[in-house]
Amino acid sequence: MHIIVIGAGISGMMSARELLLAGAQVTIIERQQAGRESSWAGGGIISPLYPWRYADAVNLLASNSQKAYPALAAQLAENTGIDPEYLNSGLLILAPDETRAAVSWAQQWQVDLQQLDRQQMHDIETTLKSPVEEGLWLPQVAQVRNPRFMKALHKELENLGANFILESPVTGFEHKGANISAVKTADRHYFADNVIVCSGAWAAEMLRDTMPQPKIEPVRGQMLLFKTKPGTVKRITLWDSHYTVPRKDGRVLFGSTIEHTGFIKETTREAAELLHQCAIDLYPRLVDYPIEHHWAGLRPSSPGGVPYIGRHTEYENLFINAGHYRNGVVLAPASAKLVADLVLGRETEIDPAPYGFDAVRD
Ligand SMILES: Cc1cc2nc3c(=O)[nH]c(=O)nc-3n(C[C@H](O)[C@H](O)[C@H](O)COP(=O)(O)OP(=O)(O)OC[C@H]3O[C@@H](n4cnc5c(N)ncnc54)[C@H](O)[C@@H]3O)c2cc1C
Repeated sequence: MHIIVIGAGISGMMSARELLLAGAQVTIIERQQAGRESSWAGGGIISPLYPWRYADAVNLLASNSQKAYPALAAQLAENTGIDPEYLNSGLLILAPDETRAAVSWAQQWQVDLQQLDRQQMHDIETTLKSPVEEGLWLPQVAQVRNPRFMKALHKELENLGANFILESPVTGFEHKGANISAVKTADRHYFADNVIVCSGAWAAEMLRDTMPQPKIEPVRGQMLLFKTKPGTVKRITLWDSHYTVPRKDGRVLFGSTIEHTGFIKETTREAAELLHQCAIDLYPRLVDYPIEHHWAGLRPSSPGGVPYIGRHTEYENLFINAGHYRNGVVLAPASAKLVADLVLGRETEIDPAPYGFDAVRD
């Protein structure tokens, strides 16, 4: 079976990997270089932020993916020589008002969640200046370093025999009855048995001539990278919509903004100032370190953050794996497995209904 995957972000490349490992032939068509959009820009936290705020459909994908990540990261490092820097740094959430919901979520999903007082928070993170008296500590939460993860995935797919068509924007489809007969770029038509749209924030635009359309929209997120000495920040810490992610080499990511600015991906000085102030409020020692990088990415938002994973209702050989909003990294392995199962006609491990085009979302 030959499958065209449109978009070489984490959703597209992980879907392609599942299909290649199952023996399928895969062509990936990407508008630019592989893994340079939202999947490159993100924080790489292998957990939804405030997971209890999400529907079971999101938590189920997250839970299955979290189990898959350690082996996946190890395989990528071994197969490609590029270490995606899977690191268990734990997640400390400063949201005392949400303790009850958090505890009940942790029981449902059998997650190790501990309630910490100020002294206990200080014990695990000495440089934190917590604005609240209590914290929720998830010691099992890990992270990956996005650019490295994307590079490793790209190389893994090349090793597995994927055919990458880079710097080739898909411009549309040709239809024959209830089938997509060709995927069009500026200079060529590509043919395959099945097509999967994995174009992130651009997925709805890509499917503009089909009905129904997924409700996927871009939401800009800006990030700062502090060039910090190792040990300055040790934990992923979440306060309101802001968080730190300490990388393996000591650098500290600070994110992020949530901005409805359409497809405009530019960074702004206001956001840099706001993020910088929030960062030093939480970790005063960060004031001593320079900002090495400031960037933005476009998250593919969907109602309730429930991704679209499944077969299009109008076209039999058209599938989608997109709309993971703030959780595309953590949800990637299980989402890829689900879409691959559906494309290959295998029995699915999880019920695909909540992710369908016509599923009711919040
Ligand atoms: C600031 C920020 C922080 C984040 N932090 C986290 C986090 O900590 N944990 C987490 O799980 N998630 C996080 N996310 C969300 C996560 O990054 C996204 O949900 C995920 O990357 C989406 O992956 P994707 O492959 O669907 O989309 P993308 O990575 O955007 O990939 C889509 C690809 O499709 C291509 N494409 C678009 N149009 C066309 C076309 N016409 N033809 C060909 N190719 C096309 C694009 O060029 C792109 O490469 C964050 C996102 C941002 C922006």
